[in-house]
Amino acid sequence: MKAEVISLAKQFHLSVLSGGKFASRYDNSEECILEVLRAEAVAREKKAIADRTKQARLPTFKSFKEFDTDFQKSITQQQLSTLESLEWVEQAFNLVLIGPPGTGKTHLALAVGNKAVEAGYKVFFATMDSLMHILKTQEISVKSAARVRWINKCDLVIVDEVGYLPVSKTEANLFFSLISQLYETASVVITSNKGFSGWAELLGDAVLATALLDRLTHKCQVLTFEGEGWRIAHRKNIF
Ligand code: ADP
Ligand code: MG
Repeated sequence: MKAEVISLAKQFHLSVLSGGKFASRYDNSEECILEVLRAEAVAREKKAIADRTKQARLPTFKSFKEFDTDFQKSITQQQLSTLESLEWVEQAFNLVLIGPPGTGKTHLALAVGNKAVEAGYKVFFATMDSLMHILKTQEISVKSAARVRWINKCDLVIVDEVGYLPVSKTEANLFFSLISQLYETASVVITSNKGFSGWAELLGDAVLATALLDRLTHKCQVLTFEGEGWRIAHRKNIF
């Protein structure tokens, strides 16, 4: 049996074939088997990408190419290409994007998410608000429980809009637990309108905020976005 047949058979857990013991009385049977296995591999890869895309729950497609560094001068092309390379995801680095509304934080977070899904990583995207809903309802909702299981398997978890809405004591604890769980096993991307100095107030607990930031920032890149928002600069009118 050809090495490729054996390796594909192993991938699909076909024990007889992967043992190399399969004998056929047909001519060209090995070519035929190889073609079937290759087709199966392609179909499975396609399905895996579709599944990962669905599970990631990225609300819109944004790319690195569309990100305008002339508009957002705080971010350089070099930083973009480093982020796009995803080596930092491999090393479970975190990324925190801080800045005022409309400066491209979510855009960049989505670009990272899309790239990572394409590259084969397991990704999850949620706003802080919907993440809190998922975590709070995991005991009573099958859907939330499934999301939490996925989050815990992820290589990259994106939490958008941390700091826009107030956080209760329970939510602060749940957020801390999640960041602790993901610590060093997955990359966390956070976008926020508040700098770290405002997180104690946001989480309503200085001790908890310090412990959370300690884990989050141990291996972390912070990017600060500045200037006027894109939406204001590109405001459209009906009339
Ligand atoms: P934020 O999350 O910081 O509030 P967004 O990323 O949602 O801002 O940006 C608002 C809109 O402006 C989006 O449609 C986004 O694609 C666009 N945008 C913002 N900054 C840039 C940029 N530097 N280059 C291209 N598009 C941008
Ligand atoms: Mg945003």
